[in-house]
Amino acid sequence: MNKLNANKTPSPQPTATQGRVTRALLGWMMRSARVAAVETLSPHFRLIDLEGEGLKSVAWLPGQKIQVAIGSGLSSRTYTPMSWDADAGRTRLLAFLHGNGPGSRWAGNLAEGEGCQFLGPRRSLDLSGADGPVFLFGDETSFGLAAALQGGPTAAEMVFEVSDAAESRDALTAIGLGRATVIARRDGDAHLAAIGADLSRHVARGARFVLTGKAQSIQNVSQALKKSGMASSNVKSKAYWAPGKTGLD
Ligand SMILES: Cc1cc2nc3c(=O)[nH]c(=O)nc-3n(C[C@H](O)[C@H](O)[C@H](O)COP(=O)(O)OP(=O)(O)OC[C@H]3O[C@@H](n4cnc5c(N)ncnc54)[C@H](O)[C@@H]3O)c2cc1C
Repeated sequence: MNKLNANKTPSPQPTATQGRVTRALLGWMMRSARVAAVETLSPHFRLIDLEGEGLKSVAWLPGQKIQVAIGSGLSSRTYTPMSWDADAGRTRLLAFLHGNGPGSRWAGNLAEGEGCQFLGPRRSLDLSGADGPVFLFGDETSFGLAAALQGGPTAAEMVFEVSDAAESRDALTAIGLGRATVIARRDGDAHLAAIGADLSRHVARGARFVLTGKAQSIQNVSQALKKSGMASSNVKSKAYWAPGKTGLD
């Protein structure tokens, strides 16, 4: 499980006392929010609005993450704010309920008025060097990132691999991204060759790429782009999940 970790430095297994101290410290560092609204877009997608005094006057950049505390321990799951209104103290997430993990359960059971705590916003994908449009590849977990980029200087051309194309299209349309390209996953990842080939057409003119979502898919598409001559300075990538791993971050 992903443990909330303020400084990313690996630490030895905490003793009970250290655990209490860590919890107290994290409690002090975390922002408290109230669930202002939850909208079920479809069986696998929920829009979650969080609000609170602690969300005011916060410097947020598209691409940053928050790490939501799940349950009573130190476990967390990571989500990408789609927007952040620092005056109103409000942020919005889009959670993909892929299965029965703690994050999916948290998002699936959340109700208006409940409290939640999280770390961040914190650095994840640093898009500060990108001063023009990018090509974004990702999956259902990347829809929030795509929404965050929308309207900004890095507004993206988007292509997503998804498990259910119709459901994903509806979710994307609901968040104003109906123009995104959606490709259904195929056995043996056959669809990734088509995505890699399609994106590679833009390498020669110096296009920039942002690759997110499933670790192995990022690797696959990245290899296709490199074979086409993409400079490593023209790509930013961040794995959001990998089969068999929990709380990848
Ligand atoms: C920087 C960052 C930003 C992220 N932003 C978002 C976001 O905005 N919205 C969002 O929904 N998710 C986002 N994610 C992904 C999310 O944190 C993971 O999918 C997380 O694993 C979900 O937690 P869980 O408890 O449901 O599943 P876990 O208990 O963590 O995972 C259990 C198993 O489920 C499988 N699994 C995990 N994720 C997926 C998936 N997406 N599809 C299929 N199988 C999966 C894996 O095999 C894993 O071993 C982000 C992750 C990172 C690192």
